[in-house]
Amino acid sequence: MSRKLYFTAGPSALYFTAEEHLKNALREQIPSLSHRSIDFQNIYRKAAGNLRELLGIPEDYYVLFLSSGTEAWERLLQNCVTERSCHMVNGAFSQRFAETAQALQIKTEIFNAQPGSCSKPEELILPDNTEFIALTHNETSTGAMQPAGDIAAIRKAFPDTLLAVDVVSSAPYLTFPVSLVDSLFFSVQKGFGLPAGLGVWVVNERCLRKTEQKQDEGFSIGSYHSLPNLVAHSVKYQTPETPNVLDVYLLAQVTEDMNLKGIGQIKQETNYKAAVLYQAIEQCNYLQPFVRNKECQSKTTIVAELQKDMDHKRLLDYLAGKNMEVSTGYGEYKNQHIRIANFPTHSKEQIEMLADALLAYP
Ligand SMILES: *Cc1c(COP(=O)(O)O)cnc(C)c1O
Repeated sequence: MSRKLYFTAGPSALYFTAEEHLKNALREQIPSLSHRSIDFQNIYRKAAGNLRELLGIPEDYYVLFLSSGTEAWERLLQNCVTERSCHMVNGAFSQRFAETAQALQIKTEIFNAQPGSCSKPEELILPDNTEFIALTHNETSTGAMQPAGDIAAIRKAFPDTLLAVDVVSSAPYLTFPVSLVDSLFFSVQKGFGLPAGLGVWVVNERCLRKTEQKQDEGFSIGSYHSLPNLVAHSVKYQTPETPNVLDVYLLAQVTEDMNLKGIGQIKQETNYKAAVLYQAIEQCNYLQPFVRNKECQSKTTIVAELQKDMDHKRLLDYLAGKNMEVSTGYGEYKNQHIRIANFPTHSKEQIEMLADALLAYP
């Protein structure tokens, strides 16, 4: 039987070179390496260096390892907010970022946008002393991606507020310079096409200073994964705990492959494949893009709404019969949407095959 094509939003298909790197990792006994060895330090250094090149991360930002995107929400809030955070919410993931703040007893200011749309920067009105703005670049539950100029507009309007951006389901496809934000984070099982269990947290000095200030004021900033502890280890290319050494190795390898291809080429292909999918969705009489405003349509996770009363399961079974798996709708949209990942590992041919299958659905 031929292999299944995973167009799922996360975990998704492995990056097409991952299997080879995984075999090499086992041959080289990477999982047995001490995380205090020079070999591991070299792997960390390589992964961080490749990520800097791929994403354009400035030298004065730290590249830190966590266990997941979910952990990054908590670490950011625990370290960089004392009293009040502001959240732009337009779906389930941005909502959970806000709920994480509430669970940590942080007061939240929430700016809601309709599911399937994006918050408008000009509607963001904040008190001068707001500490932190949380934005989700690509809301995976609805397929809405914040338009390119918005992050610059927010930065301009609130130069003194920490700005943290969730790029879990868009990276490595960023549409803004990293230097515009104070922090961003992602996990590797989405756009990087790797096994789950590793998160990447990018932070600047401003975040670190805020954490130190919070600590000096007598507040808790957590323990082993506090920002100062992560930073102190990262300058030696180490982590506080025994990390997912295998995944850090795979990330170093896969980002090298992506850099060889070039981020420009990756973005161009992503745009092309997204256009193919949206065009197919527009042409199918039983589907339409859930995000109507083209400016907000995600290039990396494409969400299509099914015609009312349509048999959701029949469509998924039809695709499964062709060895293709897409994600169901998220939460309340489970039976009303399909979600399609368009990550760097998904080839033009694979995306065209999926588009053709959607068009041919009987
Ligand atoms: C998947 C996802 C997360 C959670 O990441 P995990 O690695 O699963 O914890 C957070 N934000 C967005 C936008 C996501 O798509």
